[in-house]
Amino acid sequence: EEFKINELMTNVADRYAVLAGEKGIEFSFSALPEDVMINSNMDLVEQVLIILLDNAIKYTSSQGNILLDVSSDDNIVKIFVSDTGIGISPSDLPHIFERFYKVDKAHATQGTGLGLAIAFEIIQRLGEEIYVESQLEKGSTFTFTLSRNSGVRS
Ligand code: ATP
Repeated sequence: EEFKINELMTNVADRYAVLAGEKGIEFSFSALPEDVMINSNMDLVEQVLIILLDNAIKYTSSQGNILLDVSSDDNIVKIFVSDTGIGISPSDLPHIFERFYKVDKAHATQGTGLGLAIAFEIIQRLGEEIYVESQLEKGSTFTFTLSRNSGVRS
């Protein structure tokens, strides 16, 4: 299945700009200057984006920022979801893709701790990679890769 990455991301960004705005978070999205075709499963890629953006909104307070970004080179498109939220400590960071793992379990947050485990499984199934960089009280950046169809352009 082929789809245009800018088209998918613009669609998702439009929805999350509204959700972020409702919480007083600034939301930015920058599309690729030239759209790129991706040969993958669009619904699964969208689900990963939704998991990451839901978390970005959940773990960022008002006045914060969320950035949805994308880069591409000859073979690989990278998608970045950055937030200026609460961040993740170095001791929690290696575990956040595990099932049911939640930081600060004493806190009665609504989450199940499954979102990132599902995102991880989807990305593995697609043969791609997902990783995270984070600093406590500074924010987090989740990045995942998508292999593009080299030579195919819109
Ligand atoms: P749910 O999947 O039901 O939304 P959840 O958010 O608790 O629940 P995950 O999405 O798997 O579960 O995330 C696991 C943990 O990683 C979260 O509980 C949270 O502590 C931490 N986390 C995830 N994303 C972020 C983020 N953007 N900023 C800070 N912490 C995060």
